[in-house]
Amino acid sequence: MCGIVGYAGSSSAIAPIIDGLGRLEYRGYDSAGICLLKNSKFHIIKKEGKLENLKAELKKHETITANIGIGHTRWATHGEVNDINAHPHGNEIFSIVHNGIIENAGKIRENLAGQYDFVSQTDSETFLALLTLEYQKLQDVKEAIVSAFKMVEGNSAFVILQKDDHRIYSIKKAAPLVCGVNEDSGEVFVSSDPYALVGFCSKVIFPEDEVLAQGDHRAQGDSYSFYDLDLKKSHAYKIQEKQMSLDVVTKGDYEHFMLKEIFEQPELVQKLYAIYTSEAYKKELRLICDEKPDLIHIIGCGTALHAGYVIKSFFEKFNSIRTQTDFASEFRYRNPLLSNSDMGLFISQSGETADTLACQEQCQKAGLKTVGIVNVEGSTLFRKCDQSALIHAGAEIGVASTKAFTQMVLVGYLLSKNFEKEMTSDNVKKEFECLNLALQNVLKMESKIKEIAKSIYNYKGFIFTGRREQFPIALEGALKLKEIAYVHAEGYASGELKHGPIALFDESMVNIALVPDDLYEKTFSNAQEVKARRGVMVILGEQRNKELEEISDFYLGIDYCGVEDLKPIVSNVALQLLSYHIAKFKGTDIDKPRNLAKSVTVE
Ligand code: GLU
Repeated sequence: MCGIVGYAGSSSAIAPIIDGLGRLEYRGYDSAGICLLKNSKFHIIKKEGKLENLKAELKKHETITANIGIGHTRWATHGEVNDINAHPHGNEIFSIVHNGIIENAGKIRENLAGQYDFVSQTDSETFLALLTLEYQKLQDVKEAIVSAFKMVEGNSAFVILQKDDHRIYSIKKAAPLVCGVNEDSGEVFVSSDPYALVGFCSKVIFPEDEVLAQGDHRAQGDSYSFYDLDLKKSHAYKIQEKQMSLDVVTKGDYEHFMLKEIFEQPELVQKLYAIYTSEAYKKELRLICDEKPDLIHIIGCGTALHAGYVIKSFFEKFNSIRTQTDFASEFRYRNPLLSNSDMGLFISQSGETADTLACQEQCQKAGLKTVGIVNVEGSTLFRKCDQSALIHAGAEIGVASTKAFTQMVLVGYLLSKNFEKEMTSDNVKKEFECLNLALQNVLKMESKIKEIAKSIYNYKGFIFTGRREQFPIALEGALKLKEIAYVHAEGYASGELKHGPIALFDESMVNIALVPDDLYEKTFSNAQEVKARRGVMVILGEQRNKELEEISDFYLGIDYCGVEDLKPIVSNVALQLLSYHIAKFKGTDIDKPRNLAKSVTVE
């Protein structure tokens, strides 16, 4: 979840490290640090809070110039957020940064009592301790690294510097790590995300798990060498010559990345259709949808899972394929019944979500075909699945996911249409065109949505309700509001209100009801029940509806522009704007909400 950037070359290490960390800050951001190695001495500078704090601190140390360094932005798992627990951690011999969790850290600390003086409360420092003690015994850097690595349990990536060594070492298990080389300058890089390396490297290399990568900018031949855990040369890595394009990541005229990303959606919808109906993609899709599986298991977490719920309705409705959806964190531990005639469909924006990756591995082992719906090309999920379908959302920087949801649902829709060989049918084309129009219309309603937000942002709690395909949108709407406005919000199937949540209703509670469907009469009754308990009613309905307008306190009449199957996306974008403006009235940090990180690479 953290960001890691390491550099060794002949230029100053600070610039690429700080630039790279800036690109990754959205992944985790409670503290940041850098270690510069110069003349066999580590200079470690770290600061609680955002990268800005580290940058300010670095100004005081401008005299330190070094050609080798490692940097980290932390998302704390063990030990509170403070300067000491920030990474890198170092001693006289080694300096390390760590991404992930060392599950047996407590035991290691106990075992090493009296042998090592711990400075921080982190699990990460136990690796540093083991590494140092192993080095004192073995007197060899690589041997010490693999030996310490074998003693730690859990999913982790480590980047390591040794004080007398000009090389940069890294090793990982079930955590993202990518090595980069600039073939002109010989500079070597390492990061937790290829995005940090774009523009710096001509080649990026993805090592497999349990492979020790050694980056050497002074090497005559290859700048990177790879070793297995017996220190024999390893070829367990993949080279990616094609460079990811770096969209210039600026907010433009928008106040927040989240708002910019919400507004990108109509254009992305069009782009996705063009990509997926191109010849190159048709072939790839054929591989995914060559035959219908008996059952599809859709797995994801958070917003990705909500997209999965909408996609499930497509597979059932258009393909008559039995489909199950599950939280990745539940699926992996509940011994699901798997058959090799099933398909596993894994959804993740980053392609690095730890629980989702574990489920993919589980399904692949059981002989299922595994398919990913992913944003980041080259990510672990993208590489591990038998086939992957990219959502082409571009970099999503706002921590609360918006455009990725839309693109995930659309890719699911296209997969479903592809099973029926209807990808390029007039209906599909029309559906995309209507969606584009409907989204533009919703975005034009921003000032109306903002007014509603202004009237309701101080209420105590928010219950989102919807039926059928709109039910996942109720869940997603509530999640978005929780994430960025820090208010209590829950999503329910409309019919469930009477089975419990209605007890919450009085004049301090808001019901946001999604009713653009033919079951609207039932929802109308639900609305009356809420009103009878003095709850505040916000209704999202079809453009004009007198009955609904009368019963609601705030009515948002949306013109769905003829959209049929993709209506949930339209309602969702309206809710994205509503959450955004509620959060803005509350004054929260919208792009980097507290306690959250963009890509959840720990369980
Ligand atoms: N577990 C480590 C810590 O709490 C690393 C967390 C991270 O990945 O940022 O410091």
